[in-house]
Order: sequence, then C-alpha cells, then structure tokens
Amino acid sequence: MQPVLQLENVERRFQQGESALCVLRGGNFGLFAGQSVALVAPSGAGKSTLLHIAGLLERPDGGEVYVDGVATTRLNDDARTALRRHAIGFVYQFHHLLPEFTALENIMLPQMIAGLTRRQARTRALELLNYLGLGARAKHRPTELSGGEQQRVAIARAVANGPGILLADEPTGNLDPKTAEHVFETLEALAKATGLAALVATHNEALAERMTRRITLKDGWMIEVTNG
Ligand code: ADP
Repeated sequence: MQPVLQLENVERRFQQGESALCVLRGGNFGLFAGQSVALVAPSGAGKSTLLHIAGLLERPDGGEVYVDGVATTRLNDDARTALRRHAIGFVYQFHHLLPEFTALENIMLPQMIAGLTRRQARTRALELLNYLGLGARAKHRPTELSGGEQQRVAIARAVANGPGILLADEPTGNLDPKTAEHVFETLEALAKATGLAALVATHNEALAERMTRRITLKDGWMIEVTNG
C-alpha cells in the first residue's frame, strides 16, 4: 500500500547569525490511510516546521515530500496550493475560525473556494456538523461556542473538502483534559469513518498513547517510538 504522505530524507536549516540551525537532517516517514500518528517532542524540536513542510506550506532544503505518490518539491506554487487544498486539512492550537461567520459558514467557505456551489457546500457542512453532534450549533458564531465546540468546528472545516491527510499542531493544547478527550474522539471517529490519516503534534501523553503510532524528533532526526 502506498502512503498518503511520505517524507524522504527531508532537511530544513535556518540561518541564525553566522551558524545554521539544522532543524531537520533526515526526515523519513510514511503516513498511511486510516492511521493516526502522534508527533511528540519538546518545544523547539521542529514539530511545526515538520508539519509545515508535510503540509506544503514550506519547502524543505533537501529531500522530497510525496503526497498521494506525487513528488511535490519541484511543483510550482500554484500546483502545490491546488494539491494542498484537495489533499490536506490543517488544525491548529487556536481554532482560527472567522469570527463574523457562523459555524456552518466557516465549514462552507473552503468548499466554495474549491468550487462547490453554496447549496452543495451547505449540505456537506450540515452533514459534518450533525455527524460531530454540533447540528444545533450551526447558526452560532465562534464566540458563542465553547472551546471544545470551536475546535470541533475547526476540525470539520479542515476535513470539509474530504482530504486524505489531516495535519494538526497541538489541537488540544488549549483545552482542559476532558474537552481534549472529546475533541480527540472527533478526530478518531473521522479517521475511522473516512480513512483519513492524521499526523498530530501533541504534548498530551494520554492521547498520544491511543494513536496508531508515535514518532519523535531528536537532533533533527525523525524517530519512530514504540507505543506502550
Ligand atoms: P516546535 O514546533 O517543536 O516547537 P519549531 O518547528 O517551531 O519547533 O522550531 C524549531 C526550531 O527552528 C526552533 O529553534 C525555532 O526557533 C527555529 N525556527 C523555526 N522557524 C524559523 C524561522 N522561520 N527562522 C529561523 N528559525 C526558525
């Protein structure tokens, strides 16, 4: 089986004054459909950098990133954006929902940008909200939702275009443990129902243990850690 996301010898350096900081020296990793992988590493280890490269938001200085088998580093920006829109969803620590729009509209927007009609986008957004138990919140604006609800709407928005890959950067970092659990269950349910593959940077040990696999970053190397 081909991984939906594959990193091959990925390197990333940042110039800091005279010297170069090697954040990634040898990123090798394959993410398969239906898997949830925890990325657990200390602050500053390079988790966000890795997610940005995997999500085609940044280019690596070396190596290759394959999305659905397509080599991406030599694609132009338009092609990378098109692939990202279609294949990858993002969730961040803070929900970044648009405050002037309702939950429903926030989930409709990426679909309309991708070319769906208003009616199609609305139908799919309502399906997602209902599936996540948020149907009654459809007309609420982000400030009228709890932290956990906001984050679940952000997850619905991230998967609205049916991506095969979800990249999440501390998605429960801002939530209390019980709410974090609920938000994580949302991710799990979506992965099971749709075959979504998720790579989730997290400091939450309890949640990391429940994922299919765990990787860490040490001195710029990606290392697979056995769970348990
Ligand atoms: P994490 O998400 O694990 O906290 P980051 O990927 O944000 O780690 O950062 C890894 C290291 O790379 C840090 O030392 C950070 O200061 C550095 N870094 C990240 N982005 C840049 C940048 N654009 N320019 C220079 N240094 C950066």
